[in-house]
This record gives sequence, structure tokens and C-alpha cells, in this order.
Amino acid sequence: MSMSSVLLKGGSVLIHDANNHVVETKTSILIENDRIAKIGPTLTEDENVQVIDCSDKIISPGFVDTHHHGWQTQLKGRHANEQLLEYMVTGNLQSFQFSPEDVFYGQLAGMMESITAGTTTIVDHAHITCSPDHAKLGIAATASSGIRSVFCYTPIMRVDGFNPLTFCRNPLDDWVMQTFHELADKGPFGAGRVTLGFAFDMFFLPPEVVKGIFAQVKQKGIQTITCHGSVSWGNVVQQLESLDLLDKHIIISHGGTITTAQAERIKAAGASISSTPSSELQMAMGRPYCFDSAFVDRGITGDAIGLQDNASLGVDCHAATGGSIITEARIGLQNARHVFGEHYLKQNKVPRTMPENLSVEAAFNLATVKGAEAVGMGQDIGRIAEGSKADLVIFDALSPSMVGAAQHDPVAAIILHSSPADIESVIIDGIFRKKDGQLLSVEVDPSAKEATGRQALDWMAVARKVVTSRERMQQEIEKIDFEEAKNTLLKLFHVDEERLVDVKQKQ
Ligand SMILES: [Zn+2]
Repeated sequence: MSMSSVLLKGGSVLIHDANNHVVETKTSILIENDRIAKIGPTLTEDENVQVIDCSDKIISPGFVDTHHHGWQTQLKGRHANEQLLEYMVTGNLQSFQFSPEDVFYGQLAGMMESITAGTTTIVDHAHITCSPDHAKLGIAATASSGIRSVFCYTPIMRVDGFNPLTFCRNPLDDWVMQTFHELADKGPFGAGRVTLGFAFDMFFLPPEVVKGIFAQVKQKGIQTITCHGSVSWGNVVQQLESLDLLDKHIIISHGGTITTAQAERIKAAGASISSTPSSELQMAMGRPYCFDSAFVDRGITGDAIGLQDNASLGVDCHAATGGSIITEARIGLQNARHVFGEHYLKQNKVPRTMPENLSVEAAFNLATVKGAEAVGMGQDIGRIAEGSKADLVIFDALSPSMVGAAQHDPVAAIILHSSPADIESVIIDGIFRKKDGQLLSVEVDPSAKEATGRQALDWMAVARKVVTSRERMQQEIEKIDFEEAKNTLLKLFHVDEERLVDVKQKQ
């Protein structure tokens, strides 16, 4: 038996059956290297096996986050009362403030926040590509964290300066796709956990240019390509279809602009959406389409578009909301229940029961099996099975939040009662990244040892770096004329200003 064997002994293991129903099973899990070797009640204990007593623990598949901008840690807190247009200048375009080293610590802290909240796989829409080194240190930080990631390399509109806001003339300078090729040839990273994906939002470029970029991406065998669907000044499905690019490799984040007819074509193409309830609800991006309201089957579609089977969940900006995918599942679920209930209340009716697709199990599945399907890894992650990757989250069933609920319905306990504090351990690729409630130190990826001068980092060292890096950036950010920047952005995106609403507060 290999030296890296771990026995999780006697837990409440959440196992998906063939119909994706979650069956709570009192059993043990033997992990060998990066995979689940055996599941059974009486697995023998070898002296080389590390045994973890899991009685009074829930063992869940690791959670999958299919839309996240991992670099934004230094911007946390500033978007609390902002709309999308405001966030674009105070958040998105502030990638300008980040040095490659800032990216490393922002990204590492973001990934560690995700891990402590139970995320084991992430699709990173990494729009931090201000230079080759920005992308490379973003990947190095992701690899260092231990998370599993599809790091989606993103060509961006690079800011040249503020006051006034100006952009670099050519967003596709030679190095942009050259760096993509270099990284595609070099990957995967982090012992195979971090693979290269691609993210793209610049559909304003000439069609033949966009097609040329996608041809290069496909030629490198990239499996996941993600595009924002939130932008109210463009319809991403239309744009992808007009270029014949909508296929099973595409994840569209947010559903806001998607029509019912387009939803059918997304399903036919095998593409998927990633819904990020917190940011979508806050920033007028349309309601989260990860849940269909059940009144669809009564011949009334309401505003549901029928994409729940092709949906998964994302955090989007951990600068604007917490990094927990379980929280997103909860907010998305309760919002969908509200949409459902409201539909009947408006007719002076009251629903008798809760539809199955608005159950806690449905929410749990969006955060596990559906996320795994979205990244084409349904065979390896998202469920607990012999032969699967050992990506597991262990909850304390006796914590103040969980006790009672955990014994009655562990899925309800996770979706409606838990917080990251109830997560005792997180195992990714067979390696503990959180244990006894604490994030473990990370070994710095070899490619970042020179830039950081560090071999290993514990959480406090990462946090201190975030604090000093944030302070320095804040001094620069305070000098920016954001009104000017917003107006420039509106003109650049040809936004019809008639559509913008000024909300005056009553005194
Ligand atoms: Zn986003």
C-alpha cells in the first residue's frame, strides 16, 4: 500500500445514485494517492494508512465553482452598494493597479478563501492579463494553493491610464496570444490540477479576428471556454452563434440576456451556463437561471428559460460577495423559491408543496455534479465513487449550526445551515488543504519562488501581504476620477444612455 493512503473511517458519506439522488451512506473511504480507492463499511486498517475518525462527520463531494475572478482579493468590500457599471470601473478595470506580485497574493488568497469554504474545483475567468507575468503568476498562485482549476487565460482591454481613462490601442499585441500558446504548451500546472482554459469577451472585434483566436484556442485542445453573458449591451449567445462557436466547450456566465429560444439552442449544443446569484441579484443582471421555476410545466413559462439541467454555480467576484459556493446555492435557491411563490401570490393563490427542482438536493447538485459536467469532468469529480478523484469536504455534524439538521438531512444541513466554519477538512487530489478547521500552509510553486522569494506560505503571511498590497493600491485608486471613467466606458460600449435610470433617494 502506498504511503499516501488515508482512511476516512465511519462517516455519513453523501453518495449520488444513478439518478443523481443523494444517498446518505454510513461507510468509510480509502484514499490512495489522488483517488478514492475503495468505499465500504469494513475497510482494513494497514499500519501505513492514516486513519481519520469520521463518526459525527458528513463527507461530501468537493464543490465546483464555474465562474470566479480569483485575482480580485485586494478589491474586496468596495462593491457592496454598486451596480455593474460602477463595478466595471472600480473593480474590473483596477487590474491596472496590480503588479504581477499583487496578482500572486490576490489570487492565492482568493483560492485559499475558496478552499476554506469547500470549493475543490474552480473555473477562473482570469481577466488579469495585463502582461505575460500577470498571467503566469496567477497560474503559479493557483497551483500553489492546491485547488483544482481551469485557469481561463483572458485577452483583455488593457487600461493605459486614468484621468482620463484610456486603453492600450491594440488589445491583441503580439505577446497576448503568444503567451497563450506558451502556457498551453507548458501546462498542465500544479501536478496536473491546473489546466489551461480560455475566456473571451471582446466580441466587438472583427468577426474574422474572433474566429482566428478561437481557431488557435481549439487547435491547442482547450476544453473549457467561458464568456460573460451579463453585459446588457450585447447578447453573447447571438455573438457565439453568428460565428458558429456555440458548442459543448462553452460556459456562459450569467443568463440575463438569454432568450427561451436561445436556451434551447444552448442545450442542443451541449453548452452550459454558470449562474452567480449574489452578483446577478445585486447588479441587475437578470434573475439567476440556475433554477427553473416549476410553473414551466403548467404551460406558463414565466421568466424561466429551462436551463437548470445545463446550469452550474459560480461566485463571480469574491470582491463583492463571499467566496462560498454553498452560499451561492442557498441564495439562488431561496430566490428561485421566491420567484415561484410570487407567481402564485400575484394570482391570489398559494402553492401547496415545493417542486422537486427547487429542493435542497437540486441546489446541492448544481454545486457538485452539475459543476463537474460543465467542465467536462463528470467522470472524475463532483460525486463520491470508487476511482474518482479524492476531492472531499468533511463537515462537523455536531457544530452549533449543523447539529440536529445534520442527523436529519445532511444535504439540508449543508445547503441551509452550514458556513465555512463547519468545514473541518478539505481534501483535493488526495491532499489535505484544510485540516481541523485550519487552512494548511502551501508550498510555493517553483515558477513563483523567485518572484516571491518564498518557499512556503501560511495563511497569516498571505493575509499580511494582501493588507499591504491593498493599502498601496488604495492610495492610487483614490486619485481616480470615477465619473469620468464611467462616462468614457459608456461611450466605448455605445450604451444608450436613455436606458440608464437615476435613482433619487427620498430625503
Ligand atoms: Zn464575472
